[in-house]
Amino acid sequence: MNEISFHKTHMVRERFAYNTYRLNECLMWSGWNNGEYGMMSVNGEDKKATHVAWFLSTGVWPTGFMLHRNICPSTLCVGINHLYEGSALDNQLDREAKRVARGLLYCKRGHLLIGNSVEISLRAETGRIKRRCKVCRRKR
Ligand SMILES: [Zn+2]
Ligand SMILES: [Zn+2]
Repeated sequence: MNEISFHKTHMVRERFAYNTYRLNECLMWSGWNNGEYGMMSVNGEDKKATHVAWFLSTGVWPTGFMLHRNICPSTLCVGINHLYEGSALDNQLDREAKRVARGLLYCKRGHLLIGNSVEISLRAETGRIKRRCKVCRRKR
């Protein structure tokens, strides 16, 4: 979406405001979400609510990823002060950091993925970090 009229922007702003509420320092999204991020349909396109927040505040759509600052505890927060625009690598590092913070350093069967029990590889094509549980692999 490149062009969006003033009138439409106004409607988006109203719908956006209607779907948010204040919680401590955060502006929480109460509308539709995909299980992790708030979502909003704009001009028939599904947009992340964080991207809409950025657009409404800056007048431009983010070209990279919208990430949450470390002070922000929720992916459903759309507070502009809690967001920043980052690269794909920033996004990956951020996800890793959050995974650690959430204590999700376990494989599906509950083995702790640290030290000798985890094989970490970086896939060059995608820039994604892969963790494989060695305990599970030994049992197979
Ligand atoms: Zn927040
Ligand atoms: Zn395992």
